[in-house]
Amino acid sequence: MSDLSDLYQEVILDHNRRPRNYGPLGSANRVAKGHNPLCGDRLTLYVQLDGGRLTDIHFEGSGCAISKASASLMTDAVKGHTVAEAMQLFGQVHAMLTMPLDQPVDDESVGKLAVLSGVREFPVRVKCASLAWHTLKSALLDTHDTAKTE
Ligand code: ZN
Repeated sequence: MSDLSDLYQEVILDHNRRPRNYGPLGSANRVAKGHNPLCGDRLTLYVQLDGGRLTDIHFEGSGCAISKASASLMTDAVKGHTVAEAMQLFGQVHAMLTMPLDQPVDDESVGKLAVLSGVREFPVRVKCASLAWHTLKSALLDTHDTAKTE
């Protein structure tokens, strides 16, 4: 499995170095902030929602490599999709991050987001990886401007 772990690490380092969809988004009509006090990760998410579809999504913030890479991967994964699809992916990623280590990851459903499953070895990092997703849920589903990690 070490080859796979190396690959996962490479993807995370790449997204940390060159985060996708980074920076403010003037056309956003939903904005949500997330904070992971355990690690100090802070995230602001900008979503442009048109007719139930996420036509554009950006993020900015400061935090560890995992939180930034996770936000980068998340924005890539949900851009262009409907709110329902984004919430379904949230559920799949959340399940992946919280399931036992000895359970195989269903990478057919989560695609390259499977790279985030490596954080299960480091429980304190799970909140870093899930921050962007909780912030997304907050932006899409309610009017609170602060996301909480579970
Ligand atoms: Zn972190």
